[in-house]
Amino acid sequence: MRLTLKPLGAVDAGVLEHLRRELRAFDEVVVAPTADLPSTGFNPKRGQYRASSLFEACLQEPGTRVLGVTEADLYETGLNFVFGYSQPGGRVAVISLARLRDADLARYRERAVKEAVHELGHTLGLAHDEDRAECVMHFSRTLADTDRKGREYCAACAARAELTLKRLRT
Ligand SMILES: [Zn+2]
Ligand SMILES: [Zn+2]
Repeated sequence: MRLTLKPLGAVDAGVLEHLRRELRAFDEVVVAPTADLPSTGFNPKRGQYRASSLFEACLQEPGTRVLGVTEADLYETGLNFVFGYSQPGGRVAVISLARLRDADLARYRERAVKEAVHELGHTLGLAHDEDRAECVMHFSRTLADTDRKGREYCAACAARAELTLKRLRT
């Protein structure tokens, strides 16, 4: 089972390497060549890219799952910004580092891991965990939410994700 990390536009190499090492649910994590951000997805009025416009470049990559990583700020219809976005039950997801920055490099990288694990969770069939603020599947409205929650699935979410992972392994 392979996870492909797909940089979209210039992306901090330190964060990519951190994600490659820390996303351990997959047997193998590889970093694909960088692709350009899709000009069609850019909204000049907002100065943001539509998150789902980044899926196409991800879908061209092989891998059980493909996670697009960008430093561009992302939005979706009805949402002023998103930390990440996924195709529910699909093969690809994206995360944006734009709003995760912090003077504390370790905190910045940990936020990226949490958002990555969260979006990949959606691709493994997980919904938002409303009940447990510490579960990585808890929705992050603000960075404070992201900082408060852990990087792991709670037992219930982990069991559900494991069912999907088991199916993908066979
Ligand atoms: Zn979510
Ligand atoms: Zn949970």
